[in-house]
Formats: sequence, structure tokens, C-alpha cells
Amino acid sequence: MCGIAGIFNVSGAETLVAELLFSIQHRGQESCGLAARNDRGNIFCYKGMGLVKNVLNEEILQKYQGNIAIGHVRYPTAGKSDETNSQPHVIELPEGPHLAICSNGDIINYYELRTWLENDYGFTFKSDNDGELIGRLIAFYLLHKKLTIEESIIEAQKQLKGAFSSILIYRDKMFGFRDPHGYRPYVIGTLEDIPENGEILSDGVVLVSESCAFGIVGAKMIREMLPGEIIRLEKGKPMVTVAVNSGKTQHCIFELIYFSRPDTKVFGEKVYDVRKKIGAQLADYDKELAFGDDTVVIAVPDSSNFVALGYAQKAKLSFDMGLLRNHYVGRTFTKPDQKQRDEGVRHKFNPLPDFFNGKKVVLVDDSIVRGTTLRKISRMLRNAGAKEIHIRIGSPKVIGSCYYGIDTPTKQELIAANKSHDEICEYLGADTLKHIEIDDFGKILHNFDDFCFACFNLKYQYKPEDYHQKVNRPDAE
Ligand code: SF4
Repeated sequence: MCGIAGIFNVSGAETLVAELLFSIQHRGQESCGLAARNDRGNIFCYKGMGLVKNVLNEEILQKYQGNIAIGHVRYPTAGKSDETNSQPHVIELPEGPHLAICSNGDIINYYELRTWLENDYGFTFKSDNDGELIGRLIAFYLLHKKLTIEESIIEAQKQLKGAFSSILIYRDKMFGFRDPHGYRPYVIGTLEDIPENGEILSDGVVLVSESCAFGIVGAKMIREMLPGEIIRLEKGKPMVTVAVNSGKTQHCIFELIYFSRPDTKVFGEKVYDVRKKIGAQLADYDKELAFGDDTVVIAVPDSSNFVALGYAQKAKLSFDMGLLRNHYVGRTFTKPDQKQRDEGVRHKFNPLPDFFNGKKVVLVDDSIVRGTTLRKISRMLRNAGAKEIHIRIGSPKVIGSCYYGIDTPTKQELIAANKSHDEICEYLGADTLKHIEIDDFGKILHNFDDFCFACFNLKYQYKPEDYHQKVNRPDAE
């Protein structure tokens, strides 16, 4: 999971992009970067390990000014955790001008395409990153097939299998494009007023992963990028859709369950609203249970807050913030290795003193991946005096890996793929355990059929033989 941002033809675009990235920091905390193009046509790129406010500080923003800028926050799903794999990438073209690109998602046929470009056309890669592959593939069509930039993006889009929400700077233009299935979120906004005729001027257009970022720069949302859409932004001209090469829509349901911020609107849904409805559905499963005044509903903060609230409102139970989260620790799931995740849990959560004594607790979480975090929290609440713990999960059981940009571990590490329901409940130290069922999302989502549930039902869009390229990658983590 990563986040992308771009702004077209606005003075101080580099600073605005840094602000956008700050708003989508939850999508990746390992590294970040920006590429800015100035009026003289030069592209400057700066990247570093760490958080946006530290890496893209005022001194850097003073040095890397431009009126067209793109940026990225990274959480590694493929490729090593180092600066070479941070984005954006600047692809140097022999006769210039160079091309800058950033992308969110995973390319399943990464190795196939990379090997082909390296062996047959002498391309040299500087990273193991999908964003660089997309850039070099587009460069291939520009250089070797002498296609226009628009045609090159269309051809690259046809070759790439997997998930990509991407932004590219080429000469004085910016392009936004997305995979045909629309796996990852991608929204279009503007810093200008939206004219009544709907014709959006390119200048001032904002491209970003999540709509929650618009507020920080004062942008208004225009719409979501369509699955398979390619848009072109050109100085003084309207924003144009170059092509729409859509396939079966496969929006990632995990974005609504966990990743996206609650104040984001994505895939035609309000994230907080979906989470509250998930909570209400979980409460429906418990209609027969006799929870009384000694019961409190608490969330594993923060991504489960709205699910717990929805549960409590539907069940007419009290919702409370019994578990405190230290906000100076990042998301544990988005830490690259287990050791860091374990440390994160210990540092991250703490129960309120004297709060749980003698209480029945409905503990709501968004998902269970390995189960290690929830087991520790459950133990923490027992030690704090909880007499019963009823765990309710806002996603179905995770039984498969994700190949489209989310770093779910291998099947061997997924608790639900290896243990029975009762074994998981016992492992977590819970009295009862319930997950929301996949079919019940049909009551929650406006377009249930447009969503990917593959890590819950193993119905992957691409056939299993497509995966070996990714699984066998020598740099896979
Ligand atoms: S497999 Fe799961 S995490 Fe990956 S895109 Fe599909 S729903 Fe999202």
C-alpha cells in the first residue's frame, strides 16, 4: 500500500504536493519523495526514508520548486526497504526531456516485463520497484516504437497485469492513469471553481489517492478516476480523458475496511459510513446474546472506531474509548517485519486504568491477519480486569495473500487459513469470536459486484499461474 499525489501548473506545486502527502501519510510511512518540474523544463527529484514532515521539510521544498509536481508515500509490498525503492522515479531518456512517475499498486508480471526490457532492449533498472517498471515500459514505447506519450501509456497499460494508480510528468504535461480494474483508490480534484459546463481546466488539477487530502490544500473533489482511464493535463487547456480501457471492476474492499481514512470518499462509498454499517451488521449477528449494562463496546483504535460505534449504536450498548493508542507509533500492520510489528503493539496500546474491572467487553477490530496483535490486546484487557471478551471482526476471514498492492503475508502465516474458528478464538483468548460474512457486504455496498474479495474467497482476477512471477521474485520480502 502506498499513496500518490500530483498537482498541475500551480506555483508552489511542490509544497502543495508535500501537504497532500502528509494527508495520506497513513498509506505509507517508510519513505516518501517528490519530483517537481520548473518553468525551464527541468525535473528535480528528492526522496528519503521517513515521514513526510521530516523528509520533505522546508529547506528541501525551497530547493525543489516547480509548478508541476508529483509525490509518493511508500509502504513496501515488493522490493527492498531502502531509498532506491522510494518514489517518484525519474526515467532518463537519451535525448531528454526526462519522465517522472509514481505509482501505487503491485504489478504481477513485473519480472516477465523487466527481464524482457533488460535482455532484449538493454534497459537498466535502478530499483526493484513497480513504479520504475511502469516508467521504463512507457519509455520503451516512446523510444523503440516511436509512439506518442499517449499511445505509449495505452500500450503499457495493456501489458501490465495487476494494480496501478499512477501519475506521470512528461515534458510540460501530466498524465494520470489507472489499471483496468481500479484496485487502488484514485481521485481527481481542482483548486479552481468547477464550471457549470463541467469542463475542467487542467491548471490547478489535483490527483491523489484519497479525497481526504483535498481539504488541506483547499481543493474540491471532481470525481474518481475511472478504472482503466488515462487523463491528460496540459497548460491552459481542459483536462482530457485520452482513453478508458476498463476491465472487470475490482475495487479493493480492504480499502474500505482498513486502509483508507474514514473521512475519505472512495469507490462510490463514504468510508466512515461503510464502517458503521459493518458494525451494525455485526451487532445483528448478536441479537440473541444477552449483553447488559455491564457490557462495553470498545475499538482497537483507530481503524476500527467507526465499526465499534456502528455496533454499539445498533446494539444499544455503550461505546467507550477503553484502549488508548499512542499516536507517535505508526500502523503496526504497515511495518515491514514481524519484530517491528511486535514492538509496535507493545508501544502502541494501553488500557485505561480501572476501566475494565468486572466488565464484559465487545472488542471490535477491522481484521485478523496473523492474530498476534489481537492476542496481545486481549491478554492486556484480561489483565486489566475484563471478565469476558467478545471479539467482533469487521472483515471476513483472511485466507489468502493479496497480489494487488497490500502486503498480506503468505498463507502459512494467515491464522484463518490454518486454524479452525474455535482454535482462533482460543488462541486470541476470547469468549466468543465473529467475523462479518462476505455476502453481507451486499447489504452495505452500493455495487457489491465491483469489489475484490480475493483474500477472503480466493477468487483472484488473475489465474494462479500468473502469480509465480511475483512469488519467485528474488527480492520478494
Ligand atoms: S486480495 Fe484483498 S487486499 Fe488484495 S485487492 Fe483484493 S480485497 Fe484488497
